[in-house]
Amino acid sequence: MNSIFSKIAGTGRSSLQALADLCFPPSCLSCGAALPQSAILFCERCLGKIKFINEPYCPCCGILFAAGENHLCTLCLKKKWHFTRARAVMVYNATAAKAILGLKFGGRKAALATFRTFKEQCRPCADLVTPDCIIPVPLHSRRLRQRGFNQSLLLALAFYPAEKKMIRKTALKRRRDTIPQTGLDGASRRRNLRDAFQVPSPREVCGKNIVLVDDVFTTGTTVNECARTLRQAGAARVDVLTLARVAKNW
Ligand SMILES: [Zn+2]
Ligand SMILES: [Zn+2]
Repeated sequence: MNSIFSKIAGTGRSSLQALADLCFPPSCLSCGAALPQSAILFCERCLGKIKFINEPYCPCCGILFAAGENHLCTLCLKKKWHFTRARAVMVYNATAAKAILGLKFGGRKAALATFRTFKEQCRPCADLVTPDCIIPVPLHSRRLRQRGFNQSLLLALAFYPAEKKMIRKTALKRRRDTIPQTGLDGASRRRNLRDAFQVPSPREVCGKNIVLVDDVFTTGTTVNECARTLRQAGAARVDVLTLARVAKNW
């Protein structure tokens, strides 16, 4: 991934950014080491541990394979998803997790520029439908008040800087404050999320090609339930873009 560093070096830094770096010294999103620049907030060691998703992968759920050609994974051969394609920028490993949790629970929004650069270089992400409408996976209003921001909305804004007007943060609503999915098995995850989402105004999504944005694809239960709700409201197609995805299917 040295190409990322060379790309940054080639663009040069604005003097404003240099000043900001002086006042708020940049540090690695994963290990916290001080960095000489803020364009990519990972030290070289941690950047080396980030596993970017590239071929070969499953054309449906986007899982990364160790070798071979792109092919449908065992799960996608038997499971009918409500989304058409899911793509993720990187594998959810310990290094990625620290950076994502720093954004989600530490409010480290400086991470977004780095995540945007990663997404720009993600080849599998080019398979996603050209959206008419970009929808972040919503938080329940109570959780949104607690956290102060929805990380999926921030990621949607970072991933689609030129399509801001297409981002519909209220098109999909979470009507129940579900318990966090972490630690639940597949069946409990599905039960927990049943009818958790709604489309307040179906006209907003009817006939549209939609990209749904979330931070992590774990079992796919959340994005699948969102996609089901959107398709039921008349969406033509729903694709899924997440910053990271777990390395194995459940
Ligand atoms: Zn580091
Ligand atoms: Zn698959």
